[in-house]
Amino acid sequence: MAYLDHAATTPMLPEAVRAMTAQLAVTGNASSLHAAGRRARRTVEESRESLAACLGARPSEMVFTAGGTESDNLAVKGLYWARRAADPARTRVLASPVEHHAVLDAVDWLAEHEGARVEYLPVDAYGRVHPDALRAAIERDPADVALATVMWANNEIGTIMPVRELADVAREFDIPLHADAVQAFGQVDVDFAASGLAAMTVSGHKIGGPYGIGALLLGRQYAPVPLLHGGGQERHVRSGTLDTPAITAFAVAARHAAEHRATFAREVGALRDELITAVRAAVPDAILGGDPDPAGRLPANAHFSFPGCEGDSLLLLLDAQGIECSTGSACTAGVAQPSHVVLATGTDRELARGTLRFSLGHTSTGADVAAVAAAIGPVVERARSAGLS
Ligand code: PLP
Repeated sequence: MAYLDHAATTPMLPEAVRAMTAQLAVTGNASSLHAAGRRARRTVEESRESLAACLGARPSEMVFTAGGTESDNLAVKGLYWARRAADPARTRVLASPVEHHAVLDAVDWLAEHEGARVEYLPVDAYGRVHPDALRAAIERDPADVALATVMWANNEIGTIMPVRELADVAREFDIPLHADAVQAFGQVDVDFAASGLAAMTVSGHKIGGPYGIGALLLGRQYAPVPLLHGGGQERHVRSGTLDTPAITAFAVAARHAAEHRATFAREVGALRDELITAVRAAVPDAILGGDPDPAGRLPANAHFSFPGCEGDSLLLLLDAQGIECSTGSACTAGVAQPSHVVLATGTDRELARGTLRFSLGHTSTGADVAAVAAAIGPVVERARSAGLS
């Protein structure tokens, strides 16, 4: 088996499994005042400190959530509601068109239900938002912008955004910028303080931690309107009993990701380059998606468009040979849709139907690359003979 879908989820690290398993056997609600509660609270706070240190943040800036989707929704909707409440003129939301659906659909929901005017920022052929584009959008009327949201790195084509420069522009106008760093964390240097962001999303299961745990890093001056009401456990911004086992394992995985990031980037980046070379050798007209410069893309990402092919056919033919990857695009009611990310880069609809994303991770080996190298030529030939429906 060659598992090449680490961007969807990556295997939990053994040390994270051990940490989580140990905590599952411990009783205690971190909000309880008795000894068991205080023990759980200590575990949570130690994990929070460790996670914050890995992300260049202060512990008080970490709001635990149930994952990337919730963090994205809290940032986008919560900041929108808070900014609009403070100034009803602030209803414009600036977003990149290549965001994950957790951001994109939240933004579109605000437009449909909450009077937001959404403006999608232009991107280049690699799916990158340029700081000048953000500046131009803000300058059209700096007084009506609620927030801006641009992901740190794209989950489909791997392009890394100039987050620091974008945050500089946003700060100049006092506009909160949120970045979804779900894919960037563990692959590039993600430092919340140095980035200048107002808010940043991270998720546990993309870095070797458990599913269903994430965090929104949030500057102390921001108080988004909560999505969930209840006990107000996390800064009164997020309610719900804290998941001590998942938080502990998330912190262990984050520590591992931070300590091994440079080696990971070098080793996995080299494997990824081999994979790109192999695919291009087998299918000379395959088109690499995203930034061809390794410095401009996630080290674990290789994304291709294969002319004349249906992405789903490629995926299933590879799956039949034990190679697991992704098309990167969404499926609506069983009908394959070209990816909004690939379309936003200017790729035509027909070509955008034949995409595949190979994403590597901490268990990837040269054997995985060799499996793709051997399979991809014949698989593309078969998919081409089936053609586009
Ligand atoms: N944002 C990005 C960029 C992602 O890749 C994902 C997961 O696919 C998410 C958000 C959602 O995160 P989660 O699965 O933790 O809800």
